Amino acid sequence: MNYDSDMGYEEERVLGRTRQFNDIDEKSLRPVSFEDYSGQKKVKENLKIFIEGAKSREEALDHVLLYGPPGLGKTTLAGIIAAEMGVTMHITTGPSIEKPGDIVALLTNLNENDVLFIDEIHRLNKSVEEVLYPAMEDGCVDIMIGKGPSARSIRMDLPHFTLVGATTRAGMLSAPLRDRFGIIHRLELYEPEELANILSRDANLLNIEIDEEGLSNIASRSRGTPRIAIRLLKRMRDYAAFKKSSVINKEISDFGLQSLEIDSIGLDAVDRRILTTIADVFKGGPVGLETLAACTGEDPITIEDVYEPFLLQNGFLAKTPRGRVLTLRAFEHLGITIPPQFYDKNKSTISNISIEDISGGNK
Ligand code: ADP
Repeated sequence: MNYDSDMGYEEERVLGRTRQFNDIDEKSLRPVSFEDYSGQKKVKENLKIFIEGAKSREEALDHVLLYGPPGLGKTTLAGIIAAEMGVTMHITTGPSIEKPGDIVALLTNLNENDVLFIDEIHRLNKSVEEVLYPAMEDGCVDIMIGKGPSARSIRMDLPHFTLVGATTRAGMLSAPLRDRFGIIHRLELYEPEELANILSRDANLLNIEIDEEGLSNIASRSRGTPRIAIRLLKRMRDYAAFKKSSVINKEISDFGLQSLEIDSIGLDAVDRRILTTIADVFKGGPVGLETLAACTGEDPITIEDVYEPFLLQNGFLAKTPRGRVLTLRAFEHLGITIPPQFYDKNKSTISNISIEDISGGNK
């Protein structure tokens, strides 16, 4: 499989929403077969069946939409789909396709059955989306030739292709676009054992010595996200060198994770700032996303896409129609006494959330 990338990438934050493809390590660590892709069992099982079906009919795979928080393996999975289909993957992002002409150029340059991967597909502009509708459904594009009264539209047939769209926010996709995907999958946060598997494979590829305890220490503190686990592994390699240790063990990983302000269950400084702001300033909530963003100095989209999924899944936060509320688990973890008005307020005003929910039962 070939990668054909036209992405101009910005600097990546550890938890950021963009990534660099010129990072040789990251690129070479990407699994290119289902065997090396850990976790996401259901998604893999289904995709394997659909790919086999498409191959046996000698057709392009139906269009695939993958959604879920950043760093969970959407791009990697798109690459595996292309590899399993034995075709080339062309990579682009929603915001980089500015004009209808750009998407027409991308589509007309595809070979039969190729994969076109569009990351952040929810950020495509409307006029580009409209070119995609007939391309996805009927395999053709309508092009306007000329201007004014002599302008005419001609229809151009395209090679068969598979559009793989990735997004952190499926809800922001327009309904007509979403409906044109035949295969839609949500990627879930990974279990620590699955992350330990990924780390063990990557440590091997990167020639990093790490023992079982080191692996499980990093895996259980990576917020269920392979990209974060891999970043931490690379940083632990630096801490091991600094401590003149040939192997990343429990001691080195504890030291490294503590230096990076990552706590015993994997919350980082920003997670804790979000939780303590809700506890201190809003007495446990409820608080709206915009207000929370303003008070913590974070971007609302980053809070929603990057930080919240892990906090919600692990029962530190609950979402209610009136905003976010802290759970008892969060108060306990932060070591903050629960303000009495938190109980009163949430008991009397939040109708669809019980105290069991607030005590962290939404895992
Ligand atoms: P996304 O596109 O969802 O933001 P990526 O596909 O770029 O995530 O994955 C981020 C990193 O994590 C890649 O370096 C990839 O190698 C690794 N990775 C993600 N999912 C898996 C997996 N299931 N098994 C092994 N490595 C993975």
